[in-house]
Amino acid sequence: MSLTKIPQVVLNSSSNRCSMPVIAFGTAADTNKSSAETTKVAVIEAIKLGYTHFDTASVYGSEDALGEAIAEALQLGLIKSRGELFITSKLWVTDNFPHLVLPALQKSLQRLKLEYLDLYLIHWPISVKPGDWEIPYSEELITTFDLKGVWTAMEECQKLGLAKSIGVSNFTRKKLEDLLSFATIPPSVNQVEMNPAWNQKKLREFCEAKGIIITAFSPLGAKGASWGSNEVMDSEILKEIAQAHGRTIAQVSLRWLYEKGVTIAVKSYNKERMKQNLEIFDWSLTREDHEKIDQIKQIRVNNGPVVFFDNLWDGET
Ligand code: NAP
Repeated sequence: MSLTKIPQVVLNSSSNRCSMPVIAFGTAADTNKSSAETTKVAVIEAIKLGYTHFDTASVYGSEDALGEAIAEALQLGLIKSRGELFITSKLWVTDNFPHLVLPALQKSLQRLKLEYLDLYLIHWPISVKPGDWEIPYSEELITTFDLKGVWTAMEECQKLGLAKSIGVSNFTRKKLEDLLSFATIPPSVNQVEMNPAWNQKKLREFCEAKGIIITAFSPLGAKGASWGSNEVMDSEILKEIAQAHGRTIAQVSLRWLYEKGVTIAVKSYNKERMKQNLEIFDWSLTREDHEKIDQIKQIRVNNGPVVFFDNLWDGET
């Protein structure tokens, strides 16, 4: 079987300037619709198709299944060594305290059965009192987020070799500016919602100028997930462009992200769709396509794990 060769980007502030594959296989699935076994089977299938970058987080509950799939892929000889894979995981908001960062990373590594992560991200720029609360959290559970203390602990994780690179997720320009004012290791990545219906124009320009790679999550608008919408997959504009190229709406959306110079985390546990989502590198969109996509109505869908918290986006739309 011929594997799709996925392009890579260099992470400037990682140890040894690591390369990151531009497409990650997402593993956030609604738990009521997906079991650990489904995740494991999907990851093994994904490795067979050529995916090498896997995106997980402690809150997704997918670390154990991903770890088992990696172990099985090694056993089956689908990969020769763990080094062929790029694994991203994330620090959850109830661990967003300086003294909890290293223990949280160690727990993630244990669940993944790995010695190091390729990338460790602060999942959201908020701290929620430690505990097993129901999500979305009520506002009373939010407490002060010590960004400097947490980032210093993240830097320590990279220095210890437990994470080859570190970054953030769901950070606005203002929060990145705060972080860059004291970071000794700047964040390699900011993983944020981005798709044709939420194009992150200003954040993209800012991150490009600062050498921070954007990873687009919910690149298809997460249709079908509790945190998603139909804005992308039901877009008439994207449908028209897809028909003109003999492609699917998903492929147009993913290709558009790639041409915007960002990296992507996309989730499908369906073999045909997994394959389709990799077939975006040997064709391109036209300038007219880009102009049409720029007309799509903009709407952010994912407002984070808190019932209401207006501090999250710093007034940015
Ligand atoms: P997404 O990738 O935009 O959409 C996933 C949905 O689209 C699934 O229902 C999937 O169903 C369907 N799908 C996938 N490929 C398709 C195709 N070619 N045609 C039609 N439908 C398709 O949404 P997401 O899961 O929210 O985002 C991707 C990953 O980003 C997550 O899994 C997670 O790893 C990460 N993420 C990060 C954050 C964060 O805060 N940092 C937030 C959300 C997500 P099937 O599985 O049935 O194909």
